[in-house]
Amino acid sequence: MTESGQYEAAWAALRWRFVVQYAVVAVTIAALMAKGFVSQWLQVDAGVVIVVCIVAILGLNAWIYRFPCPRCGQLFRKAWPPSYRPWQWDYLRTCQHCGLRFNEIPRETP
Ligand SMILES: [Zn+2]
Repeated sequence: MTESGQYEAAWAALRWRFVVQYAVVAVTIAALMAKGFVSQWLQVDAGVVIVVCIVAILGLNAWIYRFPCPRCGQLFRKAWPPSYRPWQWDYLRTCQHCGLRFNEIPRETP
């Protein structure tokens, strides 16, 4: 696999982690909105389903934070924002160690 192919595969893997997490968040919201149906359908208390979904979301969030940077191999994201201003949350899209941007594919060195 070429160097750019390795970056593409790594970014696809990170996007996949986001897709899975967003899907579980959507399921959690749906379960919250239809608590009665969910508890009747699964024959369990709706609170159990919601707690399981929240634990899954936290686990998926940890999976996202454990993503290694495809260039330097260190953790790509910081655990905590450096600022409480969301418009300054560039740290979510930039490697905290080498500065590689999310979805960036550096030019191959000849
Ligand atoms: Zn890096």
